[in-house]
Amino acid sequence: MPASGWGQLFTHMIIVQKYGGTSVADLDRIRNVASRIKATRDAGNKVVVVVSARAGVTNRLLADAKTLDPHPDSRELDMLASVGEQETIALTAIALHSLGVPAVSRTGAQVGIHTDSEFTKARIVDITGGDLNKQLDEGKVVIVAGFQGVTEDGHVTTLGRGGSDLSAIAIAKAVNADLCQIYTDVDGVYTADPRQVPGARKLNEISYDEMLELASLGSKVMQARSVEFAKKHGVVFEVRNSMNNNPGTIVKEEVASMEDVVVRGVAADKNQTKVVILGLHDQPGTAARLFTALAKANVNVDMIVQNVGRDGVANVTFTVPSDDAYKAEKAVEKISAELGPRVKFMTDRVAKVSVVGIGMRSHSGVAADLFTAFAEAGINIQLISTSEIKISVAVEVDKADDAVRVAHAAFAL
Ligand code: ADP
Ligand code: ASP
Ligand code: MG
Repeated sequence: MPASGWGQLFTHMIIVQKYGGTSVADLDRIRNVASRIKATRDAGNKVVVVVSARAGVTNRLLADAKTLDPHPDSRELDMLASVGEQETIALTAIALHSLGVPAVSRTGAQVGIHTDSEFTKARIVDITGGDLNKQLDEGKVVIVAGFQGVTEDGHVTTLGRGGSDLSAIAIAKAVNADLCQIYTDVDGVYTADPRQVPGARKLNEISYDEMLELASLGSKVMQARSVEFAKKHGVVFEVRNSMNNNPGTIVKEEVASMEDVVVRGVAADKNQTKVVILGLHDQPGTAARLFTALAKANVNVDMIVQNVGRDGVANVTFTVPSDDAYKAEKAVEKISAELGPRVKFMTDRVAKVSVVGIGMRSHSGVAADLFTAFAEAGINIQLISTSEIKISVAVEVDKADDAVRVAHAAFAL
């Protein structure tokens, strides 16, 4: 798939465009999106559009559910959350009609986005397309609801928060699109969240692996699972701004020159919980039992530290997304007797701040530079974890913004 850019005119292509929540937040924004879609179609392209719920709608729906029940049934949550996107597809189609553009809206189920039944974070099994190709051949723009799919037996599912990104990339793969454009409210992927770090720089390109790490570590600009899917299926995509025509960021397989940059970007996740479990048996099998129970409960565990056991007792510390903390506590409670005689479960909110770059594979000293910068800024590091291309530290939530700025400056991003 070729990359797009400023001023280039594309013709006779299949183009998938995704517009996120802020890009369709109100009727003026929807009109703006419609006119961009019209221009793309008028140039002679087949256009498939994926839209999100209007900004704030998904949050509002989920908050209502939680007001009624702090731990709502996940099937009902999906039934509820999928409504947001359904509103937007119809409004976008209507806006296109008003411009004289033939367009039809389709739900996830109508274009055959089949998923497993892991409600609230379902995985796409396949996309059959429904009548999508037929509509395109007839010259219509097809507007597909992002974020949603359907199980084999007809239940509505959603693909995890930010899941419209995944819908778009999976549809781009399914229709063998020439271009996949993810339109949002910033010009592309930056070295850090541009709303948080004023000096953040837009990247012209980034590798799948770096984008995947940044997304998993808290950069909300792309859903992590969508990047994973793009990497697996080789879908090149571009992140762009729906309010201007600036060139965006191309996300693609790495090329050798990308390794020259040691740190590509900084990410922060302020919604992490540090779990400390005291009083575990210091014997083979305890960690296995504990983490198997957490895995079975679908708890996403990171940054595991176990202290040196003493008097037959060990303590373990790890982080989980705060949304998983309750599930983690329940899972540990269930097997508490097997884990130790006096198991104690404690939690504390933390932020995870990470630096990411494939250049770390071939450059040493990144950890030393990062920790030195934190030390000079008086930022205390609670936990550390590393991979080949990232270093993450857990810090006090109140220090997260500082830590991001300090890390950004330390690597002259
Ligand atoms: P959409 O509704 O279009 O899906 P999101 O709100 O999900 O948009 O993602 C866009 C937001 O991601 C931006 O407004 C920005 O604040 C945030 N963001 C976080 N990290 C980054 C980054 N490294 N580069 C660009 N944007 C980022
Ligand atoms: N509306 C969904 C969410 O807010 C999906 C998306 O916006 O991508 O998570
Ligand atoms: Mg998003």
